[in-house]
Amino acid sequence: MKIIRPGYYDQFRCLAGACPDSCCQEWDVLIDDKSAQAYLALEGSFGEEIRRHMKPDTDGFCFEILDRRCPMWREDWLCKIQAELGEAALCQVCAQFPRLRHDYGTFVELGLELSCPEAARLIFTAEETAPVSECVSGGESGDYDTADMDVLLRTRKTALEILDAHPLQDAMSLLLLYGYCAQDELDGFEPDPRTPEEDLAFAAQMALPADWASLRELYSQLDILTPRWSRLLSSNENTPNFPDALKRMIRCGIERYWLQAISDLDLICRVKMILAGALLVGSLGGDLICTAQLYSKEIDNSTDNLERILDAAYTNPALTDRHLLGLIQSVTA
Ligand code: SF4
Repeated sequence: MKIIRPGYYDQFRCLAGACPDSCCQEWDVLIDDKSAQAYLALEGSFGEEIRRHMKPDTDGFCFEILDRRCPMWREDWLCKIQAELGEAALCQVCAQFPRLRHDYGTFVELGLELSCPEAARLIFTAEETAPVSECVSGGESGDYDTADMDVLLRTRKTALEILDAHPLQDAMSLLLLYGYCAQDELDGFEPDPRTPEEDLAFAAQMALPADWASLRELYSQLDILTPRWSRLLSSNENTPNFPDALKRMIRCGIERYWLQAISDLDLICRVKMILAGALLVGSLGGDLICTAQLYSKEIDNSTDNLERILDAAYTNPALTDRHLLGLIQSVTA
């Protein structure tokens, strides 16, 4: 089995008390079954304390946020569970965050969550190097059609090449249009070969006038976790900011979400979600890395919000192709 990770993956070190945000604040911590059973069986006053904070959740238990903090988070910024019982006692989410692991059976892809400030710093600033891959024993064939996975792997490679080969604005238009070619291939149709020049002329012709308010409105209607995000969505104080570095966020989205289309063979809604997220972050301005990190905390880490955006790709006027192309056409670095 092959394990593939970005070149910067091993550079990650948690900032702990120096973290400008924290994964111990603002979101409920889902407790995996194994950890929940261990906490339920733990004797003594500490066991009782943990159980007092365990709340039933649709999928089992979670630690519910109190005063916007995980109740296990001490005033000295240490985790009570880790301090009292050791790292091995942490529930899976806490032990793994911000490390991502996507297991496709015969290969596993690792990554880092953009929602962690230190991971975001690496995603935006680390030297761009080829992914690192190693072969280990184990693994079994995935529960999917390998021909579909071959299409997704091949088209993702092309999407990343498009991103690398063009300036931000052109890359976004070309990626949206290429998303349809890739979807056609996934659906078993022959893609229609077009040159980038033809695609860019078509994009300019199809674009509607940019309507940034509708895009913000869409994200304002989702579940909002932090007051910072709410303020940012309703503020016009920052100057929109679309540097070429925004391609790092798009790359991160392509690497994370493209292959996930294997679950439902619906690729184009994911392509739109990735581009809409980058457009939103650029339009909100401020420090690019901070805005992208906050976006990811609100969207990538919320299953509900992700599903709502994927649905909106088909139902919300802000995410029609012509509207997205209009936003892209109006982008200036
Ligand atoms: S958000 Fe990232 S850097 Fe901050 S405490 Fe959590 S893992 Fe560490």
